[in-house]
Amino acid sequence: MVVGPAGIACALELRKAGADVTIFEKEAKYGGILEYGIPDFRLSKDILTNLVDNLKELGIKFKNHMELGKNLSIEDLKRQGYENIFLGLGAEKQSTYKLTDEQTDHIFKSDDFLKKYNLNKKIENLGIVVVIGGGNVAFDSARTAIRMGAKEVYILYRRNEELMPARKIELEDAIADGVKMCFQTKVTSAKVKNGKIQEIECIKTRIENEKAVDIENSEFTMKADTIIFAIGAKANETFFNNLGIKTENGLVCVDENYMTNIDGIYAGGDLVETKSSVARAIATGKKAAKAIIERKESEE
Ligand SMILES: Cc1cc2nc3c(=O)[nH]c(=O)nc-3n(C[C@H](O)[C@H](O)[C@H](O)COP(=O)(O)OP(=O)(O)OC[C@H]3O[C@@H](n4cnc5c(N)ncnc54)[C@H](O)[C@@H]3O)c2cc1C
Repeated sequence: MVVGPAGIACALELRKAGADVTIFEKEAKYGGILEYGIPDFRLSKDILTNLVDNLKELGIKFKNHMELGKNLSIEDLKRQGYENIFLGLGAEKQSTYKLTDEQTDHIFKSDDFLKKYNLNKKIENLGIVVVIGGGNVAFDSARTAIRMGAKEVYILYRRNEELMPARKIELEDAIADGVKMCFQTKVTSAKVKNGKIQEIECIKTRIENEKAVDIENSEFTMKADTIIFAIGAKANETFFNNLGIKTENGLVCVDENYMTNIDGIYAGGDLVETKSSVARAIATGKKAAKAIIERKESEE
C-alpha cells in the first residue's frame, strides 16, 4: 500500500474489513499533497496528524522513508506476504515547457515550491513572481509566494476567467491577498542574464472553442524575477512501465476495479485520473478496497 488520500482511503476500507494493512510512504510525513502541497493557510496540518493517529489506533501500520523503486520493491512486498498492493503514488511528473536556454534557479515547478514552504524552507528574494496556470495549484503557489515575501505576484492564465479550473473562492482569496490576474495571456519565453530572469515575453490569446489561440502581433514583455509553473502533472510513465505496469497519456491504466494489468496490483487517485481532487482520489481508493474485499470473499 502506498499512500496519499487515495491510499489512506483504501487502507481504511480494507482495515474496516479486517485486513492487515501497511502504508509505505517515501516522505517523513503522511498525507501526500495534503501534507506537502496544499499550504497550511488552506489546510491545517493538525487535521492530518489527528487522522494518522486515528488510523494507527485502528491498527493500520505506517512505514515512512520507504520509496518504491529505491528501498522498496513489489517483489519485497510480495516476499513479505502482501497479497494485494494499492499504488496511490500521485502524479509526480510536473509539466513545464522551455522558456530559456540559460541556466537559472529562478524557475520553479509548483510542487517543489510548495514543498519548500510546507517544510518551512523560505525562498528569499522572490521579487516579482509570475505563476503560469489557472488551477488550485497556481492559486496556492501565488498565495504562498505572497507569504514568502514576494514583491508582486501575477497569475498568467492562457484562457479566460470562465474557463479557469480554479474555484471562484480561490480567485477571490488570491485577489484579497494581493495577487494580480492576467487572463488570456501566454508566457512564451524568459530573458535570463547571469542566472537572473530579466523579463518574460508574453502573447495575448483569444478563445476559440474553449481553446486559447495566439493573437498575432500582441506580444509584450513584462518584468519578472521568479517564474512558477503550475500547469498540471502526470504519472511518471517510465517508472510504471519498468514495473511492467501499463500506462497511457500520463495515466496508469486500470480496469473497473482499479486493478492494473498486473494481478493484485491496484492503482488510484491522481495516477489514474486527470484533474483529480481529494474527494475523487478517496473514491478510487474506496472502490479498489471494495474490489479487493469482494475478491477475497469470493475465494473463501
Ligand atoms: C497545490 C495543490 C492544491 C490542491 N488543492 C485541492 C483542493 O483544494 N481540493 C481538492 O479536492 N483537490 C486539490 N488538489 C488535488 C488533490 O490534492 C489530489 O487530487 C490528491 O491529493 C491526489 O491524491 P493521491 O492519493 O492520488 O496522491 P498524492 O496526494 O499525490 O499522494 C501521493 C503520495 O505517494 C507518495 N509517493 C510517491 N511516489 C512514491 C514512491 N515511489 N514510494 C513511496 N511513496 C511515494 C508521495 O510522497 C505522496 O505522499 C490540489 C493539488 C495540489 C498539488
